[in-house]
Amino acid sequence: MSRAYNFCAGPATLPEPVLQQAREEMLDWHGTGMSVMEMSHRGDEFVEIADTAEKDLRELAGVSDDYAVLFMQGGASSQFATIPLNLLGDKTSADYVNTGIWSKKAIAEASRYGHVNVAASSEADGFTSIPDQESWNTRADAAYLHYTPNETIGGLEFDFVPDSGSVPLVADMSSTMLSRPLEVSRFGLIYAGAQKNIGPSGLVVVIIRKDLLGRARKITPTMMNYQVFADNDSMFNTPATYSWYLAGLVFKWLKAQGGVTAMGEINRRKASKLYGFIDNNDFYANPISPRFRSWMNIPFTLADDALNNAFLEGANERGLLNLKGHRSVGGMRASIYNAMPEAGVDALIDYMTAFAKERG
Ligand SMILES: *Cc1c(COP(=O)(O)O)cnc(C)c1O
Repeated sequence: MSRAYNFCAGPATLPEPVLQQAREEMLDWHGTGMSVMEMSHRGDEFVEIADTAEKDLRELAGVSDDYAVLFMQGGASSQFATIPLNLLGDKTSADYVNTGIWSKKAIAEASRYGHVNVAASSEADGFTSIPDQESWNTRADAAYLHYTPNETIGGLEFDFVPDSGSVPLVADMSSTMLSRPLEVSRFGLIYAGAQKNIGPSGLVVVIIRKDLLGRARKITPTMMNYQVFADNDSMFNTPATYSWYLAGLVFKWLKAQGGVTAMGEINRRKASKLYGFIDNNDFYANPISPRFRSWMNIPFTLADDALNNAFLEGANERGLLNLKGHRSVGGMRASIYNAMPEAGVDALIDYMTAFAKERG
């Protein structure tokens, strides 16, 4: 068996050593005679797995004791409702920045629970850049300011952390979490669906400043209440134990790679290689303003859309999988998260070179 290079945007490729370790431990975790999947979440073994994962994540991302780390379910999309239900408090309005499809989904869901003020939008330029913060129409009485640091579908990424003053800053880091160093203290809340850079889908990691706990509206479902999760170590009900365990293995792997500083350097190198190739080849193009190009998701088009299927077929034959762009954007998209080795990017560039030569 040989593993392909999987460029899927999510669920995304996982580090091979992590999958191998999971296989080794599948039937019998550390001599317990049980799979992690079969363990009581309240037993000593799983509690140790859960605590270690949290400790490693805190170390990797630099999360202080001022923050609670929650392992929740329902993916990032469930947070689109959970956030306003918990953070609006006695306020009526929240600020949102609209930089693409995921921002829009967050805005649509939050609008069901309160007033959304779209403080800035790059829709007019087709979501190819980030509006300068000086032009944002933020409000001092907003309950929070929400933005999407990396738009997974458009391939648009912030290269700065917005200044939200005393208003809590909320970030959907689903596709950029742990890909580069992060200053957690700038944020009120960070959330990330796991299936891009952390582990299996369904799990969502939430990092919340403790003073923002306890503000949930009365109608907030218990299973969406951050305070309940913080008070119960994310075990009010049965957590997604196996996903939590796999996330823990990914955190250990990241630490062994040198943590987020080392990852950031590798990711910068992988991305500049691929963008550099695209920019120097007439056959391929990427529409995003260079300053705001994503390190994680790289959409590109071919000179002739009629060649898309042939491109994808040839890629599949070479074990370069899931390069088809999102249906709303078209073209191609290469997602090169932490777990995509640099050799995968090299193999993609080799193939793109050969294809352009043959068909261009
Ligand atoms: C993938 C993604 C989501 C949705 O995650 P689900 O776990 O499918 O709900 C939300 N926001 C961003 C930025 C994403 O990349």
